[in-house]
Amino acid sequence: MESTEKILEVNHLKKYFKSGKGTLKAVDDVSFFIRKGETLGIVGESGCGKTTCGRTCIGIYDRTAGEVFYKGKDVHKLKGREKKAFTKEVQIIFQDPYSSLDPKMKVGDIIAEGLRAHQLCSSKEEERQRVHQLLETVGLNSEHATRYVHEFSGGQRQRIGIARALAVEPDFIVCDEPISALDVSIQAQIVNLLIRLQKEKGLTYLFIAHDLSMVKHISNRVAVMYLGTIAEITDAKALYQKPLHPYTQALLSAIPIPDPKVEEEKQRIKLNGELPSPIDPPAGCRFRNRCRYATERCAKERPELREIEPNHFVACHLYDQ
Ligand code: SF4
Repeated sequence: MESTEKILEVNHLKKYFKSGKGTLKAVDDVSFFIRKGETLGIVGESGCGKTTCGRTCIGIYDRTAGEVFYKGKDVHKLKGREKKAFTKEVQIIFQDPYSSLDPKMKVGDIIAEGLRAHQLCSSKEEERQRVHQLLETVGLNSEHATRYVHEFSGGQRQRIGIARALAVEPDFIVCDEPISALDVSIQAQIVNLLIRLQKEKGLTYLFIAHDLSMVKHISNRVAVMYLGTIAEITDAKALYQKPLHPYTQALLSAIPIPDPKVEEEKQRIKLNGELPSPIDPPAGCRFRNRCRYATERCAKERPELREIEPNHFVACHLYDQ
């Protein structure tokens, strides 16, 4: 159940990587929060920084600047017992179930790893039963515990990844593009499984995806990222019904509508040009070389993320009074 309590708070987070070509500003001053029990979707093209953002939020990457608080504690300063508790409460499901699961391990051992690391079972028998329960929870069965990952389809492998994350009874899960590598027909099944588990277990999700269509079904709120920054963040319904940022408008106009008549009448907004490099992003508004409304001011001033309507934040000069 969604509450008003903030489980994660991100303030002016920056994550830069040094490379031979210069400094890659993967995440460049990003602020948002996630309430307990909700799903925040983060959407954007490849290279927009969404995965780096998710990983920095849970301490997989150190930050360059800014702060991330999980249940009020600074994620990047956790030590000892607090760090151990954090690694149990916070889990990640990876994009690629083909490379994120060890092919040499039996499925039962993959799922039991977390149980062992956190000493959550008092006997081998308890561990075995727990693994079987977890397999059934994600729509597999107990016989699968003795098999190897290569024996499973992509969708089944992602179910194993979900069971592994669930094993330690987490509160918060970063779902890092969990459906992008799967067939469209399987994507909905995995999203529905994640929605069911969220309801049953009161989980909070940060759900990262590169297209807006599937995110709609799982997210309470959605943040649209562009070149290391947040362009727009609001309730999922408001974002789909009344997108304000020109980039969000273009992304939404690219989603096909099943009704051929509506699809034919729909105006598709073409995005000009490529996503610029995060090593040398445009000055001012980062979207300006692709924006049909860009003015001189957009080249000089970076727009701040501001609340334009209640709970609807947009970074665009079009909405300045
Ligand atoms: Fe377009 Fe300017 Fe708004 Fe950026 S600030 S999205 S360039 S109108």
